[in-house]
Amino acid sequence: MRYFTNQAGLKRVTVIPGDGVGPEVIAAARRIIEAAGVSLAWEERQAGASVFLRGLPSGVPPETISSIHETRVVFKGPLATPVGFGEKSANVTLRKLFETYGNIRPVREMPGVITPFSGRGIDLVIVRENVEDLYAGIEHMQTPGVAQCLKLISRKGCEKIVRLAFEVAVAEGRRKVACATKANIMKLTEGLLKRTFEEIAPEYPGLETSHIIVDNCAHQLVREPEQFEVIVTTNMNGDILSDLTSGLIGGLGFAPSANLGSEVAIFEAVHGTAPGYAGRDLINPTAVILSGVMLLRHLDEHVAASRIENAVFAALEQGAYTRDVRASGSISMTAFTDAVIARLGQKPERCVVREHRPIRLPEVDAAADFVRARSRRTVGFDVFIESAVTPDELGRSLDRLAVETPLRLKMISNRGTKVYPDSIALTDCVDHWRCRFVLRDPAVDLADPVLFSLLQRVAAEHRWMHLEKLAEIDGAPAYTRAQGED
Ligand code: NAD
Repeated sequence: MRYFTNQAGLKRVTVIPGDGVGPEVIAAARRIIEAAGVSLAWEERQAGASVFLRGLPSGVPPETISSIHETRVVFKGPLATPVGFGEKSANVTLRKLFETYGNIRPVREMPGVITPFSGRGIDLVIVRENVEDLYAGIEHMQTPGVAQCLKLISRKGCEKIVRLAFEVAVAEGRRKVACATKANIMKLTEGLLKRTFEEIAPEYPGLETSHIIVDNCAHQLVREPEQFEVIVTTNMNGDILSDLTSGLIGGLGFAPSANLGSEVAIFEAVHGTAPGYAGRDLINPTAVILSGVMLLRHLDEHVAASRIENAVFAALEQGAYTRDVRASGSISMTAFTDAVIARLGQKPERCVVREHRPIRLPEVDAAADFVRARSRRTVGFDVFIESAVTPDELGRSLDRLAVETPLRLKMISNRGTKVYPDSIALTDCVDHWRCRFVLRDPAVDLADPVLFSLLQRVAAEHRWMHLEKLAEIDGAPAYTRAQGED
């Protein structure tokens, strides 16, 4: 079930007014939804600044969590992450707690909003993976001067986001889906999204599919944004690309979003609390109103959703706009909201609202071991060492420690570039070395006692902070080579 009803048959929605401009824009959007004839069972709950002030470091209290567990649908205003209280963002907490893995960010040219791209017909959706990647937030200082952030990408996560992107395309009657990755550099992590996309694409023969390197995607989005319809991408890439795309159509005041998961959906504007605008009745409520339109479609209120979207476009087309569009001739947030309500039932002359079918949420195997190997063995290990010596000194020391063991030192790299043996690279080395040991006999499986025994000898002479086994899965290396490693 995507949503639930109360005893009176009204669809239940947890509403979080949020911080800064949040309460006023959420109230405006609710007023429009009611005026469009949709009565919902709103359950108002808190999150964000007021909750941090109560001393709850997550920013999300138990009563909000239990309401979401029951309604499965959230309409929220922006939440501030105050510096000096809990350091976790309540937004990220909500997205992660309820595994809303898909961030849907549509942008389209707004009538009457003049930008350098006006007249080009921009109308695209970024489908951003929302819970994995560098945003898992697993970071370590590996030496006093070298930091690491783990980029975790799962096949299951890729499959969910890719299938969701295709289903968004089908629901919106789109013809094309592009997958934007950095698979040319990060072959295992970003490459996993590319491979998953290419494997699933044949299941959607009606869609034209392509892969694009993400930096070229950014370039193309500025040169010829109208060529794109749906772009699916990893979390960090999607974060950056979707802010870029909202800039193309007039800014954050026009950028709605949905965070979709198998169990819960959260609808919110892309923008933050805009504290400078709070309580001044000046903010542009369009992004929140259009997030409300996405909410209504999720609740199968398609007619009301399209009525509101048409009314927003008609109001903009007829010259109603807030200060962020142009100061001269602008109207207040309340007046803009009234202008939208007054145009419910009207259609804009110069733009057409898309027909939407419900998005079919993908169902993937829930098993934690989503991918099972047919065969696997350990062929060596990378040990990461902190040391201020030269590559040759470190290499000679490790060569000596591996003598008469089943392992040999294959190479040492510094920030990914091979520096030992036989390197001509002009690497500006730091005190963080990846030292790769492999089995002398490539046919055997490296047993843990053999690994531990060499590690103990290394640890007696060097400071190590991290170890990674080198696996071969289904006969193929499950690790990458260093730059310059053969
Ligand atoms: P912001 O989006 O609040 O503001 C950025 C700029 O855009 C400001 O100049 C602001 O006035 C303007 N702006 C934003 N929305 C607008 C609108 N609807 N109409 C007109 N102008 C608008 O970003 P920020 O200043 O970096 O962040 C402020 C706070 O919001 C921070 O605490 C941040 O953590 C939080 N935040 C929350 C969310 C969320 O809840 N999803 C998203 C982003 C930022």
